[in-house]
Parts: sequence; structure tokens; C-alpha cells
Amino acid sequence: MRVAIIGAGFAGLAAADQLHRNGIEVSVFEARDRVGGRVWSQSFLGYTIERGAEFIMPDHHVLLNLAKRFNLNAADKKMQFGYRESRGGAGYTALEYNEGLASLNLALQKRDRSCRQSVAQFLASVPMAGGVRDTLLVRIAATNGYRADQVDASALGDDTSEFLAYPTYTIAGGNQLVAHHLAQSLPKVQLNCPIEYVVRQAQGYRIGNRTIQWDADAVIVATPASVLQRIRFEPELPRHKIAALENTTYGQAAKLFVGLKEPAAPSAVISVKDGFWSFTGCGAEGQVLPLVGCFGGPMESLTALHIDRSPDEWVDALARCRPELRLDRSQVVLSTWHNDEWVRGVYTVRTPLTPADNTEILAKAVDGIHFCGEHTSVSYYGYMEGALQSGLRAADEILT
Ligand SMILES: Cc1cc2nc3c(=O)[nH]c(=O)nc-3n(C[C@H](O)[C@H](O)[C@H](O)COP(=O)(O)OP(=O)(O)OC[C@H]3O[C@@H](n4cnc5c(N)ncnc54)[C@H](O)[C@@H]3O)c2cc1C
Repeated sequence: MRVAIIGAGFAGLAAADQLHRNGIEVSVFEARDRVGGRVWSQSFLGYTIERGAEFIMPDHHVLLNLAKRFNLNAADKKMQFGYRESRGGAGYTALEYNEGLASLNLALQKRDRSCRQSVAQFLASVPMAGGVRDTLLVRIAATNGYRADQVDASALGDDTSEFLAYPTYTIAGGNQLVAHHLAQSLPKVQLNCPIEYVVRQAQGYRIGNRTIQWDADAVIVATPASVLQRIRFEPELPRHKIAALENTTYGQAAKLFVGLKEPAAPSAVISVKDGFWSFTGCGAEGQVLPLVGCFGGPMESLTALHIDRSPDEWVDALARCRPELRLDRSQVVLSTWHNDEWVRGVYTVRTPLTPADNTEILAKAVDGIHFCGEHTSVSYYGYMEGALQSGLRAADEILT
């Protein structure tokens, strides 16, 4: 059996790896000149930064197990990812924060999940200090890359553990190493090869573009939903699938890295005023790093920082928010994704208008065409883990 896989992000590569290890002939076709998709590591000041996905959570078992398989070190960043200091807003005491989270926990337990609400609507009904609420709203908006009054309340999770301290990890040398290792063991990964059509044949499918064509018994589409319309399907995808794709929303966020004249101890700080958070952390050997990272969104916050002009205003805002850091303004990397032609956003976000069964429809196979990608993951959408799990699911659909 021959399987063609479109997209060499974590989802496509996980699917290809699983099929290849089970004796299936796989060929991967990737539009970019590199593997990894939204996982893109870069060297900066002699260290590794992540232009895209950075943080690995303790329950991201598929990813952590892959790291073990490839002898990669999942290094503890030693920063409080869950608990972030709030600056530039009304502020709050530790007692107010803890009481606010306790009220939120109670409200989440009682939440009627059938009643679709935004995070902002839901939080407005929970008693808590104004400074705590404002911080949570900015945090949810930045994390999802979408306005808190348009993010579905389910983004708050089942309890408030998300807002407490827990460790996070990054692969030493870069998360993209996982993609490189997966790709290395595959027989065919063709880069610079955007697929433009998937056409049903008497037996199987033909995929291709103006320069190549490839026949396969089954196809796995592992591209983001946001750019899937660039592929022509013959016959057309069913109406319910097209509707689900149209109902899929992507957040918009960007990252900024600035060198430091002196390394800074691990930290995580939210700028309530400017809608981003900044972090310093440790490297693979536990050493404090001479750089600070920022993650900001949604698009409204990024536009206010004029990132399309230059990173300067974001660096100014960082300097105002973190006066204790000695920024080296000559060392700056800005990473944007709204203008990336192979995704046009960061990751999927659920809004109160997203149909409850949208993800299941996105994930469902259509004859011999299977679909994966973070957007098809029910529990881990928006994460590398969701992409990997979805790839394994698509491979298992073919294997079974
Ligand atoms: C700024 C940013 C920060 C993030 N932070 C985190 C984080 O801290 N932790 C975390 O777990 N996740 C994070 N994520 C999310 C994570 O990166 C994604 O969930 C995951 O990498 C998605 O993988 P994927 O395989 O589904 O999609 P992608 O990585 O987008 O892979 C899809 C691939 O398909 C290719 N493609 C598209 N169209 C075609 C075509 N027509 N033909 C051939 N190839 C095509 C694309 O080039 C791409 O390589 C972040 C993402 C971004 C952008």
C-alpha cells in the first residue's frame, strides 16, 4: 500500500513515521523548504530560540516520549509558566489572586457547558478583584491570539491549574529536532513541493502540482485548515467538511526575542497594558540565558505595537514593563505568522460560534482521504501534542 502525506509538520511526520514503522510505503510532500511547519527553531546569540512552538507541558506524553526515543533532552525552562506576574494594570495581592482562582474553580465546576459563552462573559459573572480579572482576560487573549470576548469559555479549562505553577520543557537544541529525526527515518520527504490537487482515480488518488504528480492508495492531508482551500479536490469535499473548514478560526500572535546585556533569572510577566507576556528561562544545562522572549496577541494588540513597521515599539513596551532587564536593542528577532503563506495564523481557537462537533467533522476521513493537524485534535488543539496525536490517529485509521 502507498500513502501520500501532504505537509511535513508534526502531524504529517507523526503519521508518516507510524505508517512507515508498520511497513507502509509513505511519501511526504512539503510546501516549505524545511520540515517542522509551525515548529521552527533558530540560533540566536549562540542559543536556540523558537520562532513558533516553544513550551512542552508535563502531560504532553507523545512528544516527551518521542524526545526519549530520539535521545533528545526535554530541558526544564525553570520558569513559572502557569503563574505569571501581572504588571501595568490595576494589580492585586497574593490573597486576591488565590481567592479569585478559588471563585473561578467553583464557577468552572458549576458551568453549564451547553450554554455557549465567551471567556469575557463567563469571567464577568465570577467574583474576583478587578486586577485579577483583567490579567486573566489579557492572558487568555494573548495565549489564544484572539479577543477574550470572542474566545469560547471552554478555553478556561476544567479548573484553574493552568494559572498555577508547573514545569514546562523545550527540547535542548530546538523543538524542530523532533521533526528532523522523524523525517530522517522516512524514505521520501520532498521539500519545496506545494500540493495543488488531490484527484480520485479508478483506484486510489493522484496528487500533485504543475511539476510533479504522485499516485497513492490513500492520502493524508496534514496541512492547516486555513490553507486547505489552496488544494483542489476532485471530487469536491463534501458540503459538511467544507462548512467545518469555514467554521475553523485561527488566532493571531507574534513572538519577540531580545538579547540581554546580563542573563536574567527565570521569570514570567504579563504586560496588561500592551497585551503580551515576557519570559526569561534556563538553557539545557540549567544556565540562565541572556535573552528575553515575548508572546503577544491578538492582532489588535500587535497592531497597536506597530509590528508591521518594526519591532521597535514592542521593544519599547518591553523596556517599560521590565525595567530590571538590561536589553540589548541591537539583538532583536521578531517572529510573525499572520503573513506566513502556509498557515496565516498561529493555531486554532474555539469561539462561542464554533459548532460543538466541528473538530470531529474536520478529523473525519472522506473515502481514502484522511485529515490530521492540531485543528483536528479535540483535547490538545493548538499544541504540538495535538498535532502529533492527530497524526497517529490518521495513521491508525489507515492501519485498521
Ligand atoms: C507562534 C507560535 C507559538 C506556539 N507555541 C506553542 C507552544 O508553546 N506549545 C505548543 O505545544 N504548541 C505551540 N504552538 C502550536 C504548534 O506549533 C502547532 O499546534 C503544531 O506545530 C501544528 O502542527 P501541524 O502539523 O498540525 O501543522 P503545521 O506545523 O502548520 O504543519 C503543516 C505543514 O503543511 C505544510 N503545507 C501547507 N499547505 C501545503 C500544501 N498545499 N502542500 C504541501 N505542504 C503544505 C506547511 O508548510 C506545514 O509545514 C505555537 C504555534 C505558533 C505559530
